[in-house]
Amino acid sequence: MAIQSIRLFGDPVLRTPAAPVVDFDKELRKLVKDLTDTMMDAPGAGLAAPQIGVGLRVFTYYVDDQLGHLINPDLDLSSEMDEEGEEGCLSFPGLTYPTPRAVRAVAKGFDMHGEPVVLEGTDLMARCFQHETDHLDGILFIDRMDPKQRKLAMKAIREAEWSGLSAPTVKFSPHATGGKAL
Ligand SMILES: [Zn+2]
Repeated sequence: MAIQSIRLFGDPVLRTPAAPVVDFDKELRKLVKDLTDTMMDAPGAGLAAPQIGVGLRVFTYYVDDQLGHLINPDLDLSSEMDEEGEEGCLSFPGLTYPTPRAVRAVAKGFDMHGEPVVLEGTDLMARCFQHETDHLDGILFIDRMDPKQRKLAMKAIREAEWSGLSAPTVKFSPHATGGKAL
């Protein structure tokens, strides 16, 4: 087991687009194992490499008892949308909000041995593929919410115990204000 710590919203790695995998080597297989172990321990339905601080296009999923991973994913989405489905993210502990997503997704990519794979998902599985592929582009589920839900989410984030935004660092100036924050 190699459980890694999960990066939380506010960590710049979550906003950084990840690089395509080029070497399907031992290190990549270790990354897939770390992602799988960390996801199962959380527990979560999906985990993307940037969430454990690795900028590579890799994610794992565990939905409807199906455990797997995908490398360098490319998605084909249905035009039919699920506007109401609730979604959460391990980088935003305890928060779930309705997040619009395509109902069906075909995900093309590679397994950790470099073999091409095509995965098809509907509902939660499709939602997972979209959420995790977004992570690889530096996109977070709050970006997909309608403005009203996003406002609620941002308020909850500011109030969340885990959030760096909830306890802003107040920098005191040694000059000018005599050490008082304005
Ligand atoms: Zn997430």
